[in-house]
Amino acid sequence: MLDVGICGTDKEIVSFEYGTPPPGSAYLIIGHESLGEVVAVGPQVTRVKVGDLAVPTVRRPCTDPSCIACRADRQDFCYSGQFTERGINQRHGYMTEFVVEEERYLNPVPAALRDVAVLVEPLTIAEKGVAQLKSIQQRLPWREKGSRALVLGGGPVGLLGAMKLVLEGFDTTVYSRTPAASDLQKLVTAFGAKFVPAETASIEDLAKQVGSIDVVYEAVGASSLAFQVIPYLGTNGVFIFTGVPGRKGPVSIDTDTIMRDAVLKNQLIFGTVNASTESFAVAIADIGSFLEKWPEALRSLITRRWPLEQAAEPLAGKSGGIKNVIAVAN
Ligand code: BGC
Repeated sequence: MLDVGICGTDKEIVSFEYGTPPPGSAYLIIGHESLGEVVAVGPQVTRVKVGDLAVPTVRRPCTDPSCIACRADRQDFCYSGQFTERGINQRHGYMTEFVVEEERYLNPVPAALRDVAVLVEPLTIAEKGVAQLKSIQQRLPWREKGSRALVLGGGPVGLLGAMKLVLEGFDTTVYSRTPAASDLQKLVTAFGAKFVPAETASIEDLAKQVGSIDVVYEAVGASSLAFQVIPYLGTNGVFIFTGVPGRKGPVSIDTDTIMRDAVLKNQLIFGTVNASTESFAVAIADIGSFLEKWPEALRSLITRRWPLEQAAEPLAGKSGGIKNVIAVAN
């Protein structure tokens, strides 16, 4: 393994709020956002060769014969809930020097992406979301480029999602709790999106600034904020949830408004988790495009690389920044 990214899921696992070790194991090796180099292959392997860089997928199919999603290699839509996930759920992950992986779960990465390919996995979340968005919005065949997208959250999932939306031609705004004067504003502007800080702009101000919103890409994991934004979703709009909020208890929301709008404005709200092999392939291609268009902005998503021995520090969550990466091999 070369690089392993740390995300909110990892922080939850190390605080024992999430995650399950493999059966019979007293511990779980974490790490699911990763980049490795192939150092040896079995005799039947054709998809990768020694020396190739590769990003492995995370989820493995269930064994239930009636799960038509897993049987179709789409475990990201598993029905049985018996899927496993490397570094998260019943399978060891990638924060270790060497791993054994089946070739069908490896996605080859061009050598030129060595320093940024650890961002592929978090980008796959946006890729799966946008793929679904595109098929949904085929219902609007007259729709032209320049639709308005709002991204909630200025973390890695939000920023990678915003880059993808800009690449797809969306007029994109990122709304984040990060202070106005931060580097985030510069970063977001550098890749062609707008930045609205929650510090100085209420959701109402935000809605006034953005205008009618065609797509909301939620990447804050805070349900109360997300639901406060739903009433500002535009006509024929789509709201995409990607965050997994902690259970903080009930909040009060105006369900009549949300339901009336959903019906009277043809709105669609959906959640999306994990990603297919195809989304990994598109993510690898898109990371290449981001690097070509916005090299500095993309690189600046990786705040710091830590040696494996110091992994506990960024995992404890006090190191800050955007994406902390464990450099397993240097
Ligand atoms: C990972 C997904 C995974 C999800 C739920 C996320 O952090 O990126 O691949 O499916 O957690 O476990």
